[in-house]
Amino acid sequence: MRIVLISTPIGFLGSGRGGGVELTLNSLVSGLLSLGHSVEVVAPKNSKLHKSNEKAKLYFVEGQDQISWQHLNYNSPVTIPDNSLLPGMLEQGLNLAKEADVLLNMSYDWLPIWMTLNVEIPIAHIISMGSESSVISNLISKVFSKHPVNFAFHSKIQADDYPFIKNPTIIGNGFRLENYTFQNSVNGPLAWVGRVAPEKGLEDAVYVANELGEKLNVWGIIEDETYASKIEQSFPKGSVDWMGFLSTDELQKELGKCRVLLNTPKWNEAYGNVIVEALACGVPVVAYRRGGPSEIIQHGQTGYLADPDDKKNLLSYVEIIEKIKRENCRKWVEKNASTDIFANKVVNWLNKVMQEYK
Ligand code: UDP
Repeated sequence: MRIVLISTPIGFLGSGRGGGVELTLNSLVSGLLSLGHSVEVVAPKNSKLHKSNEKAKLYFVEGQDQISWQHLNYNSPVTIPDNSLLPGMLEQGLNLAKEADVLLNMSYDWLPIWMTLNVEIPIAHIISMGSESSVISNLISKVFSKHPVNFAFHSKIQADDYPFIKNPTIIGNGFRLENYTFQNSVNGPLAWVGRVAPEKGLEDAVYVANELGEKLNVWGIIEDETYASKIEQSFPKGSVDWMGFLSTDELQKELGKCRVLLNTPKWNEAYGNVIVEALACGVPVVAYRRGGPSEIIQHGQTGYLADPDDKKNLLSYVEIIEKIKRENCRKWVEKNASTDIFANKVVNWLNKVMQEYK
């Protein structure tokens, strides 16, 4: 198969601004290449693919980022800035896709989805978020009624955010196991990983650390400075150790030393890459029973699921984390979320999409 992939129009690949999509894209490219498919990626200028993906051709587009939908109001209109990256990427992608089998869109935005109705080229969409915008959800509903096969979701609970979608295609996600080393650090510190932004609920994890008289190690890009400083001011000085945004290799070395990852989403997290990355290093996860995490974590086996927004419940599970066998965590990833498993699901789905256009 010859596949043209459109990356996120928010930040270049490697910047961390694109969130989980950056890692998902790399895992997918890696899985598709190992299955023998040809992959071309259209991405913002300065993007870098993982070194193992050098067989994929990368096309750069310059322009201005989109604003991420989770930081707009639900009823906000679509805005496309002057010299926008998104139409530029779409133009390049459509052009390349004339010679390819399918255009695979990984951006969560209006234009590529609308385009599905207006070109002969098959455009398949990996929807990376729950319903964050009325205009996008309404458009998905419209396009879905004509092209139901063209949409895939990371988790069942994410797809449930779009009530008009019956029998959604669920592809999960994939991780290069060789990029993560298992560590048996049962006495390590507390970890939190993610974009520092309100939908990630960092304050609840800091609460737990503070109750335990410990520091919370926080890895990730500070997307919302005001939010981050508000958290700092609400807790005693030094409650948070800001560790910055690290590459996957550096991150996994540090994360693997921790005894637990706290995951505290306030939104319907579509999947939650950081959970699986922690599990791959042998780190159990305590998360709210909400969104993707509630489908990934096996309560009592690979971590615990606390009642949403119940910080005391979260704390009570962190206090018994030593009951979780770290080997179980790594094994779950090997069995359920390798790049091969993920790429195979995506290929099966793309074959169905292509059938519809024959
Ligand atoms: N991440 C990273 N380095 C860091 C912190 C985070 O590479 O120091 C990556 C992490 O590997 C994951 C992504 O940031 O792929 C966050 O994705 P997730 O699905 O958890 O949340 P999203 O940002 O997509 O909402």
